[in-house]
Amino acid sequence: MGKKNSDMKFNSNSNENKVSLILDLRKNGINNPEILRVIEQIDRSYFVDSHLYDKSNLNTALPIDCGQTISQPLIVALMTQHLEVKSNMRVLEVGTGSGYQTLVLSKIAKFVYTIERYKTLHQKAKELLKIIKAKNIFFRHSDGGLGWIEQAPFDRIIVTACAFEIPNHLLEQLDEGGIMIVPVGEVHEEQVLKKVKKNKGKIYVENLEKVRFVPLLEGVEKQ
Ligand code: SAH
Repeated sequence: MGKKNSDMKFNSNSNENKVSLILDLRKNGINNPEILRVIEQIDRSYFVDSHLYDKSNLNTALPIDCGQTISQPLIVALMTQHLEVKSNMRVLEVGTGSGYQTLVLSKIAKFVYTIERYKTLHQKAKELLKIIKAKNIFFRHSDGGLGWIEQAPFDRIIVTACAFEIPNHLLEQLDEGGIMIVPVGEVHEEQVLKKVKKNKGKIYVENLEKVRFVPLLEGVEKQ
């Protein structure tokens, strides 16, 4: 009551939602204390437009610029948990979007290399994460399906948009012993989250669960 719009993100309703968000993650199999702590610490309202501040702690995906979405917190937590990130690892993220998943990863990994095909989203996330003082993140505006050859190989690769098939370039840029988490399928059709492991040059694929993501598209957008 009587709060300015700019104060919305600090209101009590939002904090209550944060507590139930963490409970919800626990109920749905997120048991990694580091991931729960990182999600509890990060203010997700920074990553959405002001009219969505009061929804930022809900366990739902929300719209961001360029017709894209900030992923549901449970999906961010699940993908991060399956990625098995350690503090000495270099992670490639394809699909920066809002930068929320990027920040989560950066609090656990050594370095995060993130690629976005929309210039607007790339710049916005880069500026925001600079303000937040996340220093171990490197940003690139390009087609992430091609990976980041100059920085390869990566210990971990996470793709936050749905691919038709496991992207070959990314497989090649995954280090020995590496893990990649990628949603695979058709838009509006069944999509399955896959866990891909590379061991002694062999590729092992495990199907995790059904998901819904925006598509992984080729090329870049100049806006
Ligand atoms: N993790 C992000 C998810 C954003 S949605 C978040 O929580 O905010 C997926 C993002 O992948 C979109 O921003 C989309 O533009 C981007 N994307 C799709 N295809 C891509 C590609 N080939 N290279 C880089 N980014 C891509």
